[in-house]
Amino acid sequence: MSVVEPPPIIQPSGYACIECGYDLSGTAIGGQCPECGRATVDSLRAQNVQTPTSSLPITAMVLGIVSVVSLVVCVPLIICGPFALGLGWKAHRDIRSGAIVGSTGMAMAGMAMGGISSALLAFFIVLGFVAFTAHGF
Ligand SMILES: [Zn+2]
Repeated sequence: MSVVEPPPIIQPSGYACIECGYDLSGTAIGGQCPECGRATVDSLRAQNVQTPTSSLPITAMVLGIVSVVSLVVCVPLIICGPFALGLGWKAHRDIRSGAIVGSTGMAMAGMAMGGISSALLAFFIVLGFVAFTAHGF
């Protein structure tokens, strides 16, 4: 399964490529200059443009927080852990490749917390399985 998000488009506001000066209006923010191939994000950052942030990293971080909090308040919510891990990984990879713009810190926070919760979830499953087989309900 592959979820393809439509890339955000640069609004027609006269931002030019820092490499060749090409007008980048209408090109994808995560894409490249049609003229010279330079990543459009480079040009936007050089001109201090606020690039729209993908919701993926923050979603991963929030799921990670929920999964960690769930350890204390409500164990079934720990199921968010693997999703936080997966989304965080995807977000981190997409940010690195320039496909999306966002915070790698949040993506990594999601991955880290999701990883901890996933490990504990696996531990609980094993624990439950052992208890189940030992007592033979
Ligand atoms: Zn260019």
